[in-house]
Amino acid sequence: MISICFATNNKHKLDEVRSKINPQITILSLEDIGCREELPETCPTIEENSAQKAQYVAQKYKVNCFADDTGLLVDALNGAPGVYSARYAGPNCSPEDNMNKLLTALQGVENRKASFKTCITLVLNGKQLQFSGEVNGVILTERHGEKGFGYDPIFRPDGYTTSFAEMSMEEKNTISHRALAVAKLYDYLAESK
Ligand code: IMP
Repeated sequence: MISICFATNNKHKLDEVRSKINPQITILSLEDIGCREELPETCPTIEENSAQKAQYVAQKYKVNCFADDTGLLVDALNGAPGVYSARYAGPNCSPEDNMNKLLTALQGVENRKASFKTCITLVLNGKQLQFSGEVNGVILTERHGEKGFGYDPIFRPDGYTTSFAEMSMEEKNTISHRALAVAKLYDYLAESK
C-alpha cells in the first residue's frame, strides 16, 4: 500500500482522482498533511506549473506527492485560454465568468474544436516524473448540465452527445484528460512497488 498526497486545493479534482479506485494507493489531501496554503502556480506552461506545485509540497512537507495542471486549448483562439484557463476572465474570477468570456469570444465562430490537456508531476522519493492526458471535443454554444466543475458545462468530448457536466463522475472518469493521466500515474506506481 502506497500513501501519496494529491497536491490540490480543488475538492472536485480530489473526488475525481479518489473515485478512480486503486486498492494499492491511498490518496492523501493537502489537509491530511497539514498544508493549508495556496500553492505557487506562476509558470508559463502546464508542465512547469504542475512540477512547481508538486516540488513545493514535496520539499516543504517532506512527502511523496503529485500535482496536476490543466489547460483548455481552443483552436479558434490559437490555444487560449491554455495555461491561463483558471484566470481567463481575470484574477479571482469565477468559473461562470470564464465560461461567459469564452462563449462571448466564440460567438458566431464555426470552428468550436478544443482540447483539455493535463500534466501530472509525481515526486516520489525525490525523483520527478510526468504523465499527460488529453481529450478532444467542442465548445458548446450554451451550458449543459450541472455536475463537474470549471468549463465542464460547455465542453462536449468527441464521440459523446453530452457535456462533461451532464456525465456522472464515473463516466467522466473513463475519458477525461485527468483520468487518462492518472491511469498512467497509477500504472507507474503499481510497477515501481
Ligand atoms: P488547474 O490549473 O489544473 O486547476 O486548471 C485550470 C483551470 O482549468 C481550472 O480552474 C478549471 O477552470 C479548468 N479545468 C481543469 N480541469 C477541468 C475539468 O476537468 N473540467 C473543466 N474544467 C477544468
